[in-house]
Amino acid sequence: MANVKGGTSMQKEKWAFSTRAIQSGESVDSVTRALNTPIYQTSTFAFESARDKEAAVDEGMSWTPDTYFYSRTGNPTTAALEKKMASLEGAEDAVVTASGMSACATALLSILNAGDHCIASSDLFTITQSLLDDVFDAKGIKVTRIDTNDIADVTEHIRSNTKAIFVESLSNPHMNVADIPNLSKIAHENGLYLIVDNTFLSPYLLRPLEFGADLVVHSATKYIAGHGDALAGAVAGDKSLVDRVRYYLDNLGAPVSPFNSWLILRGLRTLPLRMRAHSLNGQAVAELLESRPEVEFVLYPGLKSHPHYDVAQKLLRDGNGGMIALRLHGGAEAMEAFAANLELSAIAVSLGDVRSLVYPMPKRQNLIRLSIGCEDAGDLCSDFIQALNKISS
Ligand SMILES: *Cc1c(COP(=O)(O)O)cnc(C)c1O
Repeated sequence: MANVKGGTSMQKEKWAFSTRAIQSGESVDSVTRALNTPIYQTSTFAFESARDKEAAVDEGMSWTPDTYFYSRTGNPTTAALEKKMASLEGAEDAVVTASGMSACATALLSILNAGDHCIASSDLFTITQSLLDDVFDAKGIKVTRIDTNDIADVTEHIRSNTKAIFVESLSNPHMNVADIPNLSKIAHENGLYLIVDNTFLSPYLLRPLEFGADLVVHSATKYIAGHGDALAGAVAGDKSLVDRVRYYLDNLGAPVSPFNSWLILRGLRTLPLRMRAHSLNGQAVAELLESRPEVEFVLYPGLKSHPHYDVAQKLLRDGNGGMIALRLHGGAEAMEAFAANLELSAIAVSLGDVRSLVYPMPKRQNLIRLSIGCEDAGDLCSDFIQALNKISS
């Protein structure tokens, strides 16, 4: 293979983010010279001999890279995606899971045992809330949820059995920007792990490990995949921590399918291009909405009015992403009419898709979450203008 350009993934780490998004983790197939990473659609892997089987299964238990015996434990298509994710988050290792929830659950369970305590943000993705407040509570893991932007309050809530702090880098749905440098400082002074769900930003906009986080988790279903076509999750960090997550993942049984890994590899190559478009469109739509009389408030980290604007500008140097929250004057009626009037934003859960989505939340004081896609900025702005004009007329 000496004359085939491709190299190993480690040789590519000297390159910039956009180059690594395309080339890291992937190399020319050593048997067929296939340039694109194949879908290894297989549950199991055969051995030359019983002795090889013993060696591989033993090695597999400590997750030696590139030893495969069963796809719950490891698969070459998924391994390529894991290497690319690790490269993009600036991590030593990463593991890819069946969904964002399995990533959150296995990351937290790899650190927290019965009797342990965790401090988590009051503003979190709904299912993460029920995982912490209901499922973990029933299993003897106690979670205190507070405003984690209040650093003094976080310090006050640390107990002798506290093991971790869990936050979203940009929170769902109130768009709080986590002060990761200060949270990691407090965490490490007290011997805790800082776990950051980086779903709303993606490693193109923020790499929490660079600011001291210990583990980064993702719903890769969102910006990482980018095209609304596959569920997956990811956890990145030091290999010793990621190996523990792999152990929990193997035991709880939530491996991603090789086909989903392949779809997400394909999506991830254009992450920088997509995030630039999401950020340009997000900023344009946020500014437009803020200027309109029908709008009560807009929450977007690129607006000076955002309560964490200073933290956001310190951490986010390449754009502010595509997630916006807003509330309209006129209550539930205005919210419903606005969502119905939008031609380019589908009413749907999820986010991070190239296609724009709108998610009205009547149970959250009529907050509206927008996931601004990669469509033409002018078209998106005209669509928001006509939707607002109709509710005010
Ligand atoms: C969607 C989401 C999750 C859960 O991910 P799934 O892939 O849907 O399981 C976790 N955290 C955040 C911030 C999310 O937006």
